[in-house]
Amino acid sequence: MSEYFRNIKTGAVTIATGLGITLKHFFNAVHRKGDAGVDDVDYFRQVDGLVTLQYPREVIPTPKNGRYRLYNAIEDCIGCGQCERACPISCITIETIKVAQDDMALCGKTSDGQQKKFWVPVFDIDVAKCMTCGMCTTVCPTECLVHTPVSDFSEFDRSNMLYHFGNLTRLEAESKRNKLAEIQAKAQAEKERKAAEAAVAAAQAPTQEEPKSDGE
Ligand code: SF4
Ligand code: SF4
Repeated sequence: MSEYFRNIKTGAVTIATGLGITLKHFFNAVHRKGDAGVDDVDYFRQVDGLVTLQYPREVIPTPKNGRYRLYNAIEDCIGCGQCERACPISCITIETIKVAQDDMALCGKTSDGQQKKFWVPVFDIDVAKCMTCGMCTTVCPTECLVHTPVSDFSEFDRSNMLYHFGNLTRLEAESKRNKLAEIQAKAQAEKERKAAEAAVAAAQAPTQEEPKSDGE
């Protein structure tokens, strides 16, 4: 009999505890989330209260050093392609064009003084696929590819999630490719001309008599 009453008591306590938790959340929910920043002691209390935020009027602030949307400071990109190779889901696409010798000054240097040797007409990041793993930013030798604290960059149009950072227009890239092809064709012609001259010189050179063997 005593066990019977003990069970009733346990049940009543359990129900009262559950209701207490529910009521606590219920009354917490009347508080509105404020503007606490990450440096504010109340930052993590921002998740108390309403379960659903009145987005976009209400947002939980993100840290200033948050690692979210990618950004490439293309003026410092040397087109090495390491980020593209490191990305586990292939959401970076790069195309490069070698810089002609007389274009070196035009192409310029990175902010740490390194001469850039490639134009980067295409540097696209599909941020809809990006999982912000950071592998690309880790390998970037010039640290031009970085995460930013921007965490909300949703779009209605999927195509707007493809970010373009290239440093040449399509026409400029075409012109650089043609210029490079012309230079390479000239260099190849010169190489062949020299090879032909060397072959003629070798053919005209006096040949040495071969030594006769003992049996002849
Ligand atoms: S953060 Fe990760 S997934 Fe996103 S582009 Fe870089 S390597 Fe790819
Ligand atoms: S790793 Fe950095 S420097 Fe190299 S291509 Fe990518 S963004 Fe440019």
